[in-house]
This record gives sequence, C-alpha cells and structure tokens, in this order.
Amino acid sequence: MKAVCWMGKESMEVQNVPDPKIINPKDAIIRITRTAICGSDLHLYGGFIPSMESGDIMGHEFMGIVEEVGSDVRKLKRGDRVVVPFTIACGSCFFCQNDLWSVCDNSNPNAQVAETMYGYSGSGLFGFSHLYGGYAGGQAQYARIPFADVGPIKIESDISDEKVLFLSDIFPTGYQAAVNANIKPGDTVAVWGCGPVGLFAIASAYMLGAEKVIAIDRFAERLSLAEGYCGATIMDYTDEGLNIQEALRDITGGMGPDCCIDAVGMEAHAATTAGLYDTVKQKLMMETDRPIALREAIQAVRKGSTISIPGVYGGVLDKVNFGAAFGKGVHMNMGQTHMQAYLGPLLERIEAGQIDPTFMISHRIGIEQAPEMYSKWQKKEDQVTKIVIDP
Ligand code: NAD
Ligand code: ZN
Repeated sequence: MKAVCWMGKESMEVQNVPDPKIINPKDAIIRITRTAICGSDLHLYGGFIPSMESGDIMGHEFMGIVEEVGSDVRKLKRGDRVVVPFTIACGSCFFCQNDLWSVCDNSNPNAQVAETMYGYSGSGLFGFSHLYGGYAGGQAQYARIPFADVGPIKIESDISDEKVLFLSDIFPTGYQAAVNANIKPGDTVAVWGCGPVGLFAIASAYMLGAEKVIAIDRFAERLSLAEGYCGATIMDYTDEGLNIQEALRDITGGMGPDCCIDAVGMEAHAATTAGLYDTVKQKLMMETDRPIALREAIQAVRKGSTISIPGVYGGVLDKVNFGAAFGKGVHMNMGQTHMQAYLGPLLERIEAGQIDPTFMISHRIGIEQAPEMYSKWQKKEDQVTKIVIDP
C-alpha cells in the first residue's frame, strides 16, 4: 500500500510499504477512505517531537471501511464505516474507566521509557512517534486499529465522509478545549489561534453558551472563517499598534476575558513578532521575540477564571509568568483530548446539522501531494487551513 512516511526533519515521502495485518485478536484492519493532516503533524514534521524513526507512517486523523476483524472483536464487522479517534485506549484500565482515555495505561508499550526520559507518558497514538507507542498512522491506504471495540465510532447514516472525518481529532479537541475553559452562559472567551483546533474551539464555545468570542491570529483567511462562519470578533496580533492584552481589557470593561483558550501550543515558538511585553514594561524576566499565546493568556485572563490549553506543548516551557497565574487564582486545564468521551454527542450534533465541519477544508488532495502540502502548511502558504487526503 501507499503511505506518507516521515524520513527526517522536514522530509516526508510517499512510499510503498507492506499492508498492515491483524497481530492481536482485538485488532481490526480498515481501508482508509479519508484522512487529514493535523497541526500536530507539523510538530513531527518540524522535528519538535523526539523518537520518530525514518520510515514511520504519519497520520492520526482518518476513517474508513472495516476490512477484517480479529477473533475477539465484537462491535465491528467487515463493511462497517468507522471514524477512528487518534488516541488508542484499552477501555478497561483505571483511566479509561474514569473517562480519561488519552492517558490510558495499557495502550502505549513504550510508556515506561517515556516516563524515564521525560517524566510522563500518554496513551498510544496513531502516527505520533515511538514514545506514544510507535503505531503506524493513517495517512495511508490501510491501517491496523488496536482495541477495535473501544475507539472507532460507527457511522450508520449516509452522511458524507468529510462531515464526520474531523471526529477523529480536531472537533472533539476544540470541544474539549471549550469544556475545559469552564464556559458559563454569557461569558466572553478569548481564543489564541484560528487553525482547525481554534476554529472548532470557537464554534464549541458558542455551543456552550459563550456570548462573545474573540479570535486571535495573523492569517486573514483563518480570521475570516472565525468571523464569518463562527461569528467571532477578530484580532490580528500583527496589527501595528495593537496590544492584545489592552484590547482584551477594553472589550471586557477592564476585567479581562472570563475564559482563555490557547489553541496554538508549540507553534508559537516558530512565530516571530516582537514586543509582547513592551507596554507592561516587564521585559526583564520575559523578554522574547516570540509571543507565546500561553504567556499572553495568563496576562489577559480575568482573575479567578480559567485557561484551557488544547495546544500541544512538549518538554520544558521557559519564561512563563507562573506568579501571575498563581496571583490571579487562575485554573488551568490541558492535555490530549479524551476522545472517546465526546464522539457520540458530537456525531449527534453533526447529524442534527448544528455544525458543518467541512467549513474549514481548504485543500482536497491525493496521497502523492501530501509531502508538498506539509511544507505549504508549515509555511502557511497557499491559504492552507485544513487538508483532506483521499488515499
Ligand atoms: P495550526 O498550526 O493550523 O494553527 C495554529 C494557529 O495559531 C495558526 O493559525 C497560527 O497563525 C496561530 N498562532 C501562532 N502564534 C500565535 C500567537 N502568538 N497568537 C495567536 N495565534 C497564533 O494548528 P491546529 O491544527 O489548529 O492545532 C493547534 C494546536 O492544537 C497545535 O499545537 C496542535 O498540536 C494542537 N492539538 C492538540 C490536540 C489535543 O489533543 N490537545 C489535538 C490536536 C491538535
Ligand atoms: Zn490531529
């Protein structure tokens, strides 16, 4: 089969690789009908996540048709159409039983190594390095699905693949980001980052009763989706003379937003706009030429409220004003999405027409174009917002 393979930092290739096989009675094999590239894949592409090996198959957002099931699989059969969540979970450990699926204890065979090297581990993830189990990903024609009775959700209506594909990650991720922000009806919510995750966080914030959402980014096409499709008030953080923190305070009567969502994560390390702290004269401790959304969120958020962090961070984060977070009594919620908790309810919302997730798709491509599109997304060229692959 054909698969998009990581060959090294900023190097992807489409290769012919062996088809996956059932290796555990709880596995299923699916033929992939649609898959997507995620902002998280850019962290692998950029070399920010350790323990990738040359030839690893990329991709954790995918869906398809069940081809074959192992002898212990009960819920799926050949021919079923399924969306596969990016987190692999066993369904029976302490964490799965407590709806904390993305920290499942049994699905990552390399968890101990990860804990020794980095102090933490998570569940197995498709196509996301050996520290998350080294599972082959879904930017391919077929994939092996471990614990096939636990993750995949069956799609029984005739709704299109494209409308449900993002249940594999970014819709639940944006939704959990809004849940984690503790939004109450009438709240004002600020969202840093209008990539796919930020856009779903904005849409979800409104679903949860937010009155006003302020969307912050620097790309016109993304800001216009935030405003046009989702209804947010937008801010371009590169606008000369705009101080995000002051602007947020002005909009909220001096208090700061009730909830802040950092839907940027490590991406911000690669951004280059100067002067974040110029106006508050705190350059000594926090001088940086790279505005990191989390720093800004801590400075901006209303006292006693919540910052939700769906954006991915890896390793040690330097120069974060933790004293301000402490002093303001801020709550912080973060982590990989507990996917299995949201799949059913969000599928219902899509089927009821409350949201059409296709609004953000900017590119539809064949698998051969994937390497080129990685590069374009990383550079934010060609107005790339979300890429869907028909493999
Ligand atoms: P993306 O790269 O398409 O979007 C990030 C956006 O942030 C870009 O539009 C960029 O212009 C903007 N940005 C950069 N610096 C900014 C700043 N200082 N202020 C405001 N905006 C800024 O990525 P995405 O697909 O939307 O993913 C966003 C983040 O969510 C990534 O870190 C990704 O790894 C993470 N993610 C987390 C989970 C999870 O389970 N928690 C799942 C999927 C993705
Ligand atoms: Zn993803």
